[in-house]
Amino acid sequence: MPRTVEKPEALTLLDEHRRSLFGDGEGCVMCALVERSVDGAELLAEGEHGVALLDRFGSRVGHTLIVSRRHVEDTSSLGWEAYADLQRLAYEASLALERELSPARIFIAVLGASAQLPMSFPHFHVHVLPVYETGEGARPAAVFSWTSGVLVYEDEEARALAERLRAAWPDPRA
Ligand SMILES: [Zn+2]
Repeated sequence: MPRTVEKPEALTLLDEHRRSLFGDGEGCVMCALVERSVDGAELLAEGEHGVALLDRFGSRVGHTLIVSRRHVEDTSSLGWEAYADLQRLAYEASLALERELSPARIFIAVLGASAQLPMSFPHFHVHVLPVYETGEGARPAAVFSWTSGVLVYEDEEARALAERLRAAWPDPRA
């Protein structure tokens, strides 16, 4: 099972992650994730306009991100075709998560910061977030936040879970 780390440790890990991508330079983490996803262990599915990735800094087991291939910050700049393609991936992700992990509920959300923040990115992405509990802890405000900790997978755990989700992924043509 992935372990849950507190926000300060998560910020340190995220900073290390950013450094592994850019060294001391700057860049868009989401763009880098899309670029590296080609042979990445986290890649769950691909669409014309985006990729579905297991979030390595997720809120719950199976937390998935659908990330636009193009660096676009606003929904309106995506255009309908790209938006629809990304939402189709989100739909497929929710089917795969339901099949494989049987969550109590799945939230799908477009969030993202209006500026680059350590844990939030303006590059367009859709969260597909399974929740397993049903009480207070399952409220959107609780799960879309790092205040109650962040899941960190070991590489092997991430690879194994991604494999299960890829196997459960619906056929896009079905
Ligand atoms: Zn970007």
